[in-house]
Amino acid sequence: MPPDAGAGVPALLAEAAALDAAHAATDLRARFLLPAGLVYLDGNSLGALPAAVPPAVADAVARQWGQDLVSSWNTHGWWDAPGRVGDAVGRLVGAAPGQVVAGDSTSVRLHQALHGAVRLRPDADVLVTDPGSFPTDLYVTDGVAEQTGLEVVHATPPEVPAVLDRLAAAGRRAAVVSLSQVDYRTGELWDLPALTRAAHAHGALALWDLCHSAGAVPVGLDEHGVDLAVGCGYKYLNGGPGAPAWVYVAARHLPHVHNVLPGWHSHARPFAMAAGHAPAPGPERLRVGTPPMLSLLALEAALTAFDGVDVEDVRVRSLSLTAFLRRCLEALVPGVAFASPAQDDRRGSQVAVRHPEAYGVVRALAARGVVGDFREPDIVRLGVAAPYLTHGDMAVAAQHLAEALAADEHRDARWTERATVT
Ligand SMILES: *Cc1c(COP(=O)(O)O)cnc(C)c1O
Repeated sequence: MPPDAGAGVPALLAEAAALDAAHAATDLRARFLLPAGLVYLDGNSLGALPAAVPPAVADAVARQWGQDLVSSWNTHGWWDAPGRVGDAVGRLVGAAPGQVVAGDSTSVRLHQALHGAVRLRPDADVLVTDPGSFPTDLYVTDGVAEQTGLEVVHATPPEVPAVLDRLAAAGRRAAVVSLSQVDYRTGELWDLPALTRAAHAHGALALWDLCHSAGAVPVGLDEHGVDLAVGCGYKYLNGGPGAPAWVYVAARHLPHVHNVLPGWHSHARPFAMAAGHAPAPGPERLRVGTPPMLSLLALEAALTAFDGVDVEDVRVRSLSLTAFLRRCLEALVPGVAFASPAQDDRRGSQVAVRHPEAYGVVRALAARGVVGDFREPDIVRLGVAAPYLTHGDMAVAAQHLAEALAADEHRDARWTERATVT
């Protein structure tokens, strides 16, 4: 530790207290159940448990399933839940009702969205995506390319406009530009409006993966003319392990979008039990089969943690927290190397730090009650889910990181051996 680190901690804690008082209106900690004393900085992997979830799940099991049984499909609105939960997600990502449906995993939703895009652009021969995307996004994109005969062209977000120009000059045409709004490793926030315009300028559709945005960063899907989007339910939306994902299709595309995985739940008249498939008119046309109802109802209850709150307010709190966390780390951790951008408008809701022994650092921190996560090859990822974190938590996390490094705890043999899930 630098010689003044000890003196720095009380000052930072005092500053944290003042900031927490100034941001008291957006402190939603009381809406969550978190173990006392834990600083949970992994809400971008598995969000914390909202207090509304346990009673909702207990009711879904004991009363809806146990007592009311099959009638619950009607009486408890089970059948309509995917669209209803989709609309609740839509409010957080700037989508008017009737364009989002919940269910299945992000990987499945991405398959559907990419296939849908290819069908909407029948003359195209290329799919453009970021080589730094989350692996499942790359695997799915390669799979869809194989299934459709299109070619994948890689471009990082800053390269996208030039790559689209080059493709056009070569007489080629992209069906879709498929990107994550926030980089899962570094937390870099890309310019969704500008990249969406760049795609449109070349006749391509814009497909955004919002796994690290939904519930944390304002997106403005309708406002910016985005065509398609997907996201998961268990990160900043706090829907629980394996929570249903969701897909957005802009209203102008809904009548035409093709579902590559049609099932009886995507039928316009599911209970006609007709031999041929006729797609539902709304986003329900992207449903597949029977949804995991307990998980869907858990997600629905989880989303009530955002009741009365705009994601813009969550963003203000998040930026204050991540900026303060950066300052605490700079003050307390000698030579700290940030992977996340310093500029507010380029930073999602996490602070990633590079360290050659990042895995041991994450484990040593967890042993001190500060839970972050490790991402290959050298990233200590500190996710900041603003609704349930405070500036005080940021100061405490930075202090533990400084102390763990100073004491070489990250080199302890207990913390360097890899667990199954890193
Ligand atoms: C978390 C995440 C996923 C997860 O995909 P699942 O199919 O839900 O497991 C996909 N893409 C991105 C960018 C993610 O961050």
